[in-house]
Amino acid sequence: MCRRGRNSWFALVASVALFATPPALRAQTAAVTYFEGARLLTGDGVVLENAAFIVANDRIVGVGRRGDLPVPPGATRVDLSGKTVMPALVDDHVHMGYRAGTSFTAANYTRENLADTLDRFAFYGVAAVLEAGTGRGDLPYRVRAEAKSGARYLTAGSGFGMPDAGPSGAMGGSAYGVTTQEEARRDVRELAAHKPDMVKIWVDDRNGTVEKLKPNLYRAIIDEAHKNHLRVMAHVFALDDVKDLVRSGIDGFAHMVRDKDVDDELIAMLKQRPDVFFVETLWGQHRALYTERPAWVDDPALRQAFSAADIKALADELTPDPGADPKAVARARALAANNLRNTAKLYAAGVRLGLGTDTGGVTGGQYFGLGSHMELEFLVKRAGLTPMQAIMLGTHTAAEILGLDDLGMIGPGKSADFLVLDANPLDDIANTRRIDKVYLRGQEFPRAALSAKWQGAPAGK
Ligand SMILES: [Zn+2]
Repeated sequence: MCRRGRNSWFALVASVALFATPPALRAQTAAVTYFEGARLLTGDGVVLENAAFIVANDRIVGVGRRGDLPVPPGATRVDLSGKTVMPALVDDHVHMGYRAGTSFTAANYTRENLADTLDRFAFYGVAAVLEAGTGRGDLPYRVRAEAKSGARYLTAGSGFGMPDAGPSGAMGGSAYGVTTQEEARRDVRELAAHKPDMVKIWVDDRNGTVEKLKPNLYRAIIDEAHKNHLRVMAHVFALDDVKDLVRSGIDGFAHMVRDKDVDDELIAMLKQRPDVFFVETLWGQHRALYTERPAWVDDPALRQAFSAADIKALADELTPDPGADPKAVARARALAANNLRNTAKLYAAGVRLGLGTDTGGVTGGQYFGLGSHMELEFLVKRAGLTPMQAIMLGTHTAAEILGLDDLGMIGPGKSADFLVLDANPLDDIANTRRIDKVYLRGQEFPRAALSAKWQGAPAGK
């Protein structure tokens, strides 16, 4: 099930011993909680039945079996019998700020909307997100620096493409348009001053409609980014571009290869560069992945986070349109099928895959958080991963890709960010959406209060 499961288990036991008297427990001011009785998925392949774990302030300080792990004096005890606990998710490809309900425009890119979007991710148990190159001006860095209630905000700031060939539509104008290597290097240095969490580039001619970022320009961007200790993630579509980017030293990909099947040459190249990651963004192709309206779109729980207009828009997207151009439908379905096959093939080859959805972008829609859970369901029910593999991809690996060492796992020293579920996702991955509670940084996230606020919002918001 998991390559590292056994080693991690020993590490966990050793850590529990080391943390037998956590320093945090000695502090008079520490708020200590002993959670007990749940099935615990640690995020790296281990499952503990009848588990216990200790949270002191915002950190996990002990993990073990109920009965084996001592209850610290004065700890608050929380009984989670019958529940399943898993680490909070991390989404490595989102677009912040443009969408507010059914509205999709740059005018929505405000401090308030960014904060609301982070709350929406948190509502669904997404602890951190990476904004993939469509930040506007200085605002993302300012919001990133503020203390907020919701998901952790990582940003690639403004990405890079040929002029007017990066992000399009509402998100247009957010990226640098570059034509010379000198310009590209200067813009990377300007971006680097903001300490972005990643650099994003677009290498795609959008089915022949725009000019693709030229290889001499992306090589200059990658080189300059590396000189500034930044990693570069590429929006890609075609296998040939992916290969040339790997040869050019790219760090990862914001999408899967979608034009054709990956081949042995690419897999051999990736084996030489095991840190190179792919984000599969199946949710971005959700329209093409259904041939009939799925039952989950009628789940009453969706109403906690989405308006009737949002849900109707989603149901319409997922219901095949008999008036649609059959050629366009066939092409979209073929591209989605390519993504699924390539995701399965690269996963089986041991390539590093992390959860990403494109939520908030042109195809990802306004379904912040929901899309991250649906990505897990696509990975299991369409790409053939096991529920445990998908959960590890969406927690431990997604966090690791962003360098978030304290997320993606439930273990000593990690940030206390986790989901309490009413049903076991190892039985059915759709159970990750049966959320009882979300904890971020040791605090229960106020889901009910936010839901009440959103349900009271005016129509269209
Ligand atoms: Zn995107």
